[in-house]
Amino acid sequence: MSTHLAAPSKLAPEHADKPTPDATRPSREEAEKAVRTLLEFIGEDPDREGLIETPKRVMKAFGEHFAGYASDPVRHLHKTFEDVEGYDELVLVSDIEVHSHCEHHMVPFVGRAHVAYIPSGRVVGLSKLARVVDGYAKRLQVQEKLTAQIAAAIQSSLKPQGVAVILQCQHFCMCYRGVKKPGSWTTTSKLYGAFLENAATRLELFTLIGMKRSVGES
Ligand SMILES: [Zn+2]
Repeated sequence: MSTHLAAPSKLAPEHADKPTPDATRPSREEAEKAVRTLLEFIGEDPDREGLIETPKRVMKAFGEHFAGYASDPVRHLHKTFEDVEGYDELVLVSDIEVHSHCEHHMVPFVGRAHVAYIPSGRVVGLSKLARVVDGYAKRLQVQEKLTAQIAAAIQSSLKPQGVAVILQCQHFCMCYRGVKKPGSWTTTSKLYGAFLENAATRLELFTLIGMKRSVGES
């Protein structure tokens, strides 16, 4: 484990969240001090046995939760292949786990993503779609933006006949604080191309997602 969060790479402007330049970023030591301050603020003793290593652990966890700033998730879509016997029908990867953090409260929102596209010639490795979801999820996010970013990345890289991204998530900031509505789900979707223009294609997508559900539940 490196002692610093990975430095952000130069992101393409349309996908960048404008990461803070390295020169103006606080050091890891300063960040750990800030965690210590927060512990004191809530009335804790940061020097008691259980908490002494907590600032270090929090920064290590941050390194994982926010690993998505380190590079542009679009890179996962650069390698494509076309030896698929001319397959040009819907490809759906459903129930990709989503673990992200809301940018308003810095608490988790978790759920699943369904990612579909209709290739025009070239396809991408299925696991790469999950990596794109992860790359954007491991940043501070709002679900709407996360949905749009995943869809835009696939649309701009693969230029397929259509892209559909559907996210269903539970937000801790809504379930356990504020209005306190545990069990509520938020669904967002972003569609491009055939999924937007063709009702039959859209219906096929929703049927396939539903089929997956009933297969999974049987
Ligand atoms: Zn929130």
